[in-house]
Amino acid sequence: MSHTLVDFHCHLDLYRDYETVYKKCCRDKVEVLAVTTTPRAWAKNVELAADSANIRVALGLHPQLVAEGVDELVLFRNLLHKAKYVGEVGLDASPRYFRSFELQKKAFEGVLRACCQEGGKILSLHSVRCVGEVLRMLETFLPQNKGTAVFHWFTGNASEAKRAVQLGCYFSINSEMLKSEQRRNLVVSLPRERLLTETDGPFTITAGRPSSPTDVIFSLKTLAMLLKMDVETVKSLISLNLQRLEG
Ligand code: MN
Repeated sequence: MSHTLVDFHCHLDLYRDYETVYKKCCRDKVEVLAVTTTPRAWAKNVELAADSANIRVALGLHPQLVAEGVDELVLFRNLLHKAKYVGEVGLDASPRYFRSFELQKKAFEGVLRACCQEGGKILSLHSVRCVGEVLRMLETFLPQNKGTAVFHWFTGNASEAKRAVQLGCYFSINSEMLKSEQRRNLVVSLPRERLLTETDGPFTITAGRPSSPTDVIFSLKTLAMLLKMDVETVKSLISLNLQRLEG
């Protein structure tokens, strides 16, 4: 793998023109983790990615959707042996989803236990307003030698970041994480060898339209400035981090 762009958290199947987006990713040779929000979406995404060596499909169970179907955990477990990548999974304690928080924890525990049992999975984690709880559950249910977690859109504080680093976690950085000085300072404090990039498209906006995977170039440019490195060097750093993560 040469030094290509990396979008380690993108919902390729949630774009209106998802078939075109899939084809474009394949053509652009961006290294993409196509996360899903429900295990029901798994098969379709695997089919769409079938011809592209640069698109990985993750088996997901999004915390914001847990309230609508807990029995999806059964399907998740049944498909897990086929998946190396898991996501989007995690917890969401924002007001809109807080009512389902206990249910979310049950589902996430099930996800982590299943991943631990099979071993070797790479997870893309959602942790809105509950980084501490996500860390606690990781520490409890997924020992470091049983899998690797990547915090997507990390919003924790410095001590939570330190805990995540100690757990062997990576961080996929998107444009929203680079917008305020406070968030930038946190990003700069992370170990460079744990950094990845992501768009979380189509849920972030670039130039007035939903971000697409190649838009990680804008985050790379900002990272280059913050880390006082040139863009090509940051690009190769991220690319090498991905290779190490994937072993
Ligand atoms: Mn997402």
